[in-house]
Amino acid sequence: MPVAEPGKGEARVRMEACGICHSDVMITGLEKLPLTPLVLGHEGIGVVEAVGEGVTNVVVGERAGITYFAAGCGVCEMCRAGFERYCAKQANHGYTRQGALTTEGIVAAQNLIRVPEGLTAEEAAPLCCAGWTAMGALGEAHVRPGQLVAIFGFGGLGHLALQYAKHIGARTAVVDVGAEKLEFARQLGADAAVAAEDARKVLVKEHGGADAAIVFTASAAAAPVAFSCLKRRGSLILVGLTTDTYTFSVTETVLKGIRIQGSYLGSRADLEKVFALAAQGVARPKVATYGIEAVPELIGKLAQGQITGRAVIRF
Ligand SMILES: [Zn+2]
Ligand SMILES: [Zn+2]
Repeated sequence: MPVAEPGKGEARVRMEACGICHSDVMITGLEKLPLTPLVLGHEGIGVVEAVGEGVTNVVVGERAGITYFAAGCGVCEMCRAGFERYCAKQANHGYTRQGALTTEGIVAAQNLIRVPEGLTAEEAAPLCCAGWTAMGALGEAHVRPGQLVAIFGFGGLGHLALQYAKHIGARTAVVDVGAEKLEFARQLGADAAVAAEDARKVLVKEHGGADAAIVFTASAAAAPVAFSCLKRRGSLILVGLTTDTYTFSVTETVLKGIRIQGSYLGSRADLEKVFALAAQGVARPKVATYGIEAVPELIGKLAQGQITGRAVIRF
């Protein structure tokens, strides 16, 4: 696709790397796209080559990260309250705006994140969505040191959430259907790594229930299982997108004081924190790097849950 000069509020970025996210799988499956042709990708790292009118937050030559959140309207209640990610009129890279899965592209400059020294583009890319969203979800779970966090789905987001949860001193349990992913969870130091069918038995009977269960997988079966693994006054945090609907017991929710909360992306502070933690070597994604020709195959594998860690395209 031709790349024009950046307009007002835009930057032209020479991409170094871009991760493939499950949302890309969702978007490719949509019947109607808001833009055609559409450049996917919202985990981009690149060097700013040119900026348009009014751009002051990034300069030419700087490395920047491109996230799904391109821009909020700036005036609605959510934007004014610092919850721009819940703005109903938001623009999204790789969905309503052209994304980062390209050698060179025009992106919104408003929310670009500066990439700290000491991180390769491949390692930094998954932080833009997987890391940010995982950190946002942990924040919504209000987890305290010593509490048990159950992570449902050990893909790109889950494997970063585990590292963040350990960093704050929580006990961790990972639930997945894949044996390879559970082995990976053990390697990363999960206190328990449990097959989905054993989740309730292990988490409730052996660990007394989870203080928070965060559902990263898009698998429809996961949320009710996660709900059943909570202890009293536990929190169910829903992150993975699915078009399916769930049934939860009202009585159980009320009598056990269960909180059910959706979580989408994270705050600006969360985004800066995941980059800082990666730069310090506290929490980094496990990545496998591919050329752009691998994208169709990777989208298929991601849809089947066959990717461990994060697949990243290197330009
Ligand atoms: Zn994403
Ligand atoms: Zn707004």
